[in-house]
Amino acid sequence: MARPFAPSDVAQPLLDRARKFVDDELIPREPELLAKGFVAMLPEIETLRAHAKEKGLWSPFLPKALGGAGLGLTDYAHVSEALGRTPLGHYALNCQAPDVGNMELLHAFGTAAQQERFLGPLTRGEIRSCFGMTEPEHAGSNPVWLSTRATKDGDDYVLNGHKWFTTGADGAAFCIVMAVTDPDAPPHARASQIIVPMDTVGFSIVRHLPVMGEPGGGWASHSEVLLEGVRVPQSHRIGEEGAGFLLAQERLGPGRIHHAMRWIGIMERAFDLAVQRAVTRELGPNKPLGSQHTVQAQLAHLRATIAQARLMVLDCAHQMDSEGQQAARESISMVKWVAARALGEVLDAAIQLHGGAGLLDELPLAYWWRHERAARIYDGPDEVHMASVGKKILQRAGMRRKD
Ligand SMILES: Cc1cc2nc3c(=O)[nH]c(=O)nc-3n(C[C@H](O)[C@H](O)[C@H](O)COP(=O)(O)OP(=O)(O)OC[C@H]3O[C@@H](n4cnc5c(N)ncnc54)[C@H](O)[C@@H]3O)c2cc1C
Repeated sequence: MARPFAPSDVAQPLLDRARKFVDDELIPREPELLAKGFVAMLPEIETLRAHAKEKGLWSPFLPKALGGAGLGLTDYAHVSEALGRTPLGHYALNCQAPDVGNMELLHAFGTAAQQERFLGPLTRGEIRSCFGMTEPEHAGSNPVWLSTRATKDGDDYVLNGHKWFTTGADGAAFCIVMAVTDPDAPPHARASQIIVPMDTVGFSIVRHLPVMGEPGGGWASHSEVLLEGVRVPQSHRIGEEGAGFLLAQERLGPGRIHHAMRWIGIMERAFDLAVQRAVTRELGPNKPLGSQHTVQAQLAHLRATIAQARLMVLDCAHQMDSEGQQAARESISMVKWVAARALGEVLDAAIQLHGGAGLLDELPLAYWWRHERAARIYDGPDEVHMASVGKKILQRAGMRRKD
């Protein structure tokens, strides 16, 4: 009998090819990425993207009509794990956040004109996009508290506001901006999502935010953004006016599990590196690091930690495939914090087993440590997901208080 959540017969050949592509073409390019950074390596990355297309690996999560493989979430979880083994994986196959979320949003809710102008080029990898919701002045954990305003003027909206942590804004063609369209509406109906081409007058990038000392560039950066009298047609609004929060939930559900799938791949690679280190590093002649019982126990613990997180990811993906996103809301929250914490633990242990070498940018461990600490913060900090699950448990048990 097949193992539960095993890849389907359709996905297995694609998964095998994706693994081979990662091993043969992407992992050998890592040292260059880690030494030069994303922007300097972009021409070579574009070549790798072309190879991925030629090999039929492009955007496996997208429906076939949009040039993808049409994989369900459970199948895609396996492919995404394979890609997560290298920092180049998801970008090389056009599966990178935040573009994936924007593609899914425009596919599900965009008008025909929005799909032709924005979704088509995005799915073909001709342009990139970003998503501007979080504001420096307000707690991002409370997504209904925003100051950015979109005011109607004739057939247009005029936007004014301040965003930050807008991932991939540098070089993106458009930003999906969350802005308040009716400040007097109930909190969850105040905001709308509006497509703003990045070259619109009044839209500017203030700076790249240096994350753990790295300002980054291009897709691999997070920007502070200003909107000053930015005018776009009302036809750039996605969905109904006031549906911004609802659409954000639609976007974030799959987004959260997409991250968790990637983290499993990162953990597997970090684990492999840790095992190699334990086998090859000698504490003395013929005395490998792995001969120490503490190291053996540590590796066993990491193995179990990754296995637990993977099972939760696959179970959640299966629930989303079979019952839909709403039914899986608690599973999504649990996966988000459990996998993010597991990731931190595995990366920390892998660095520790490498000693000083673990801190160097000659392996991807330090890169992931810098960039993935954020896993416990973005798309909802741990505490918010835990509180949400805990509250539902207590409500089912009869608790009446609402807050
Ligand atoms: C690398 C990275 C990329 C990002 N990319 C994007 C992007 O592309 N677009 C975008 O719009 N945003 C993006 N964000 C922003 C991200 O969504 C926010 O950082 C996140 O929502 C948390 O908001 P905050 O930073 O304002 O923290 P706050 O809301 O101020 O929370 C700070 C801390 O308070 C605690 N806390 C918060 N709420 C509660 C609670 N209810 N109970 C108990 N404790 C609580 C948590 O420990 C939390 O970490 C990104 C962030 C990072 C770090």
